[in-house]
Amino acid sequence: MNLHEYQSKELFAKFNIPTTLGKVAYTPEEAYRAAKEIGGPVVVKAQVLTGGRGKAGGVKLAQTPEEAEEKATAILGMKIKDLTVHKVLIVPAATIKQEIYLAVTNDRAARRPLFMASAAGGMDIEQVNRESPEKIIREHVDPFLGLKEYQARNLAAGIHLPHELWGQFIQMATALYQCFVANDATLAEINPLVIDDQNKLVALDGKVSIDDNALMRHADLAQLRDVQAEPAEETTARQAGLNFIKLDGNIGCMVNGAGLAMTTMDITKDIAAKYGIEGGGPANFLDVGGGAKADKVATALRLILSDPKVKAILLNIFGGITRGDEVARGVIQAMNEVGINVPMVVRLAGTNAEEGRKIIEEANIPNLLSAATLVEAAEKAVLAAKGAN
Ligand code: GDP
Ligand code: MN
Repeated sequence: MNLHEYQSKELFAKFNIPTTLGKVAYTPEEAYRAAKEIGGPVVVKAQVLTGGRGKAGGVKLAQTPEEAEEKATAILGMKIKDLTVHKVLIVPAATIKQEIYLAVTNDRAARRPLFMASAAGGMDIEQVNRESPEKIIREHVDPFLGLKEYQARNLAAGIHLPHELWGQFIQMATALYQCFVANDATLAEINPLVIDDQNKLVALDGKVSIDDNALMRHADLAQLRDVQAEPAEETTARQAGLNFIKLDGNIGCMVNGAGLAMTTMDITKDIAAKYGIEGGGPANFLDVGGGAKADKVATALRLILSDPKVKAILLNIFGGITRGDEVARGVIQAMNEVGINVPMVVRLAGTNAEEGRKIIEEANIPNLLSAATLVEAAEKAVLAAKGAN
């Protein structure tokens, strides 16, 4: 679960990380009042659960309350990466001498937290990471020892931080690590962490992601979930108990079991590559879980079809607890409800697969293909998607 900037900064403040707190406004008038109360120049900041707000015009400086109202009018309602801005954060503006990047996340391959720092913080950090990764200083943390002071010093030295700021920096990195661990975060990021005109280090932006699987022991954090601000597909999937992750290929995959879903994605991708299809491959990861009932399958299909990039659907079900006839009924129910306008390839195996196939055949639906093996199914889906393009 991703937290908004204002929520992340409130967490930072609890761990004594210097940051700019302000007021959340839902209307231009509220923005005006917030700016007036704060006094002096402010920044009006779109609160959406995505990065790149600055580049999209969602972060604007305002000298007066009138100007803050004007900027809020422009930002409220705008779309940033498909997400509508419903609220803005009004914070006192800082004067920036330098923008630094500081973050801690989990490095799964190394099986431990990883700190990253860069002197080239700010809006182009992704580009820095792509083009000159050596400008990002990395330090792995032993989870049993925590972040040691020498490691924070390594980071400070690596980014050529002026020596008089090292004390502040070490405190900040240590506090960020505590915040990361105490909240079961998967990411705690400050970008930019600025040196201001008073030579103070201040977190001007914050991004904290909490591990969904740990929310059961953080009731206060679970309450921070902003359903309105999350991508609609994610909310639908979570409420239906589906594990759904959007990818950028053209074949919607619906599979039961995470391992089978991974295999299905890999094979689909390989076959798309074999045919040299640009943009071919899985459009999503979707595990419908065990014992998927008809309505769950229908929800899953609607979810897949909501992506206009999807040109074919590959349904791969290995029946254990999940019964092939249930799945087949779900497919037909979904087809009746939403109308499936792309070819669909179905591969059923395991419990009641035979009954399932029979239900599908008897429904006699055009554009519904069946396949005996996964490889055959993936091949048919890839070619059907290519034909549809
Ligand atoms: P993001 O683009 O979504 O990461 O939003 P940020 O909160 O990081 O803001 C984007 C950029 O706006 C920053 O990199 C800064 O250059 C600028 N910015 C943000 N807050 C302030 C501020 O208080 N004062 C000044 N001068 N610039 C700011
Ligand atoms: Mn930022």
